[in-house]
Amino acid sequence: MFNALVAQQSDKTVTCSFEQWDNTQLPDHPVLVKVSHSSINYKDALAVTNRGKILRSFPMVPGIDLVGSVVESASADFQAGDNVVLCGGGLGEDYSGGFSEYARVPTEPLVKLPSTMRPEDSMAAGTAGFTAMLSVLALQDAGIKADAGSIIVSGASGGVGSVAIAILSRLGYSVTAISGRPEHSDFLKQLGASEVLPREEFLEPAKPLERQRWAGAIDTVGDNLLAKLLAQINYGGAVASCGLAGGHKLNTTVMPFILRGIKLLGINSTYIDDTLRQRAWQQLAEIMDHDFWASISQTIDFNDIPDYSEKLLAGEVRGRVIVKVSCD
Ligand code: NDP
Repeated sequence: MFNALVAQQSDKTVTCSFEQWDNTQLPDHPVLVKVSHSSINYKDALAVTNRGKILRSFPMVPGIDLVGSVVESASADFQAGDNVVLCGGGLGEDYSGGFSEYARVPTEPLVKLPSTMRPEDSMAAGTAGFTAMLSVLALQDAGIKADAGSIIVSGASGGVGSVAIAILSRLGYSVTAISGRPEHSDFLKQLGASEVLPREEFLEPAKPLERQRWAGAIDTVGDNLLAKLLAQINYGGAVASCGLAGGHKLNTTVMPFILRGIKLLGINSTYIDDTLRQRAWQQLAEIMDHDFWASISQTIDFNDIPDYSEKLLAGEVRGRVIVKVSCD
């Protein structure tokens, strides 16, 4: 038997509580993992507090991120004792996730933890850091080099934005941050932003083309802000669109695309191919170090997941929340 935080549905009401589970209650996937750490993402907080439709069936363990060691595997790709990490890929949404001492997971989204990365650091990254890395790789693959000009990052004090700034800065890019919270300016500059611009500057409706200011952008906000960025990207530049913190609409024109050759790059961290998944984890391990991950995260006990889910939704948490799941 082991501890799991389980969402149950009865009469259309969903409640989450700690239960003792055994292996037969886990989904029928080939790799059994003893989970050492997980993390709390916005999606997880919605699932645990039942404020969003995240979980697709019941009973279900939430938690879209996990790291741990393989206990048994029916796949030749993974052996008992391998340290593995899984972010997204349907974990904690389509099948039971990381808020459990054991998880049974599919092989497709599972990655061997890079040997230089501590398990807890991979959860300080979690889906947010992984998405930031995918966004940076997309810009690099679109040919945006460090000497091309400044990269602008929106939603800068959020999980994706803050890690994106740190990665870009370590890769030698000049980074400009957009934030709605001036009190986080010093923090964003410590991460590597050379300047922090107020969000309001970017919320008014964009003209089809505006003054060229940025070589590229990582946008976590969407809506008018994304339209504004598209109108300001230099000729041949690119925008990685990965979030919708400000809204899901996009009111723009074809002008940036056909007159400036700009590329709009969609980022999906959940369903991607193995090669890109492994490349992104390897890059995260090579570029970022333990001190960085420790500086942006705090670690909580397994029993504190419900409390911290509430705090996260109330905007009372800064940085990433790592959950210590197993004690050994
Ligand atoms: P966070 O909640 O940590 O950060 C979002 C940031 O956006 C906030 O910190 C704030 O930054 C800014 N923001 C918040 N509300 C608004 C608003 N109404 N208008 C404009 N800006 C706003 O989220 P994450 O960083 O974890 O995720 C960012 C986005 O990326 C989310 O929409 C999330 O759903 C999405 N996402 C997408 C993934 C993918 O696979 N494509 C994977 C993971 C996340 P500031 O105060 O500095 O302006």
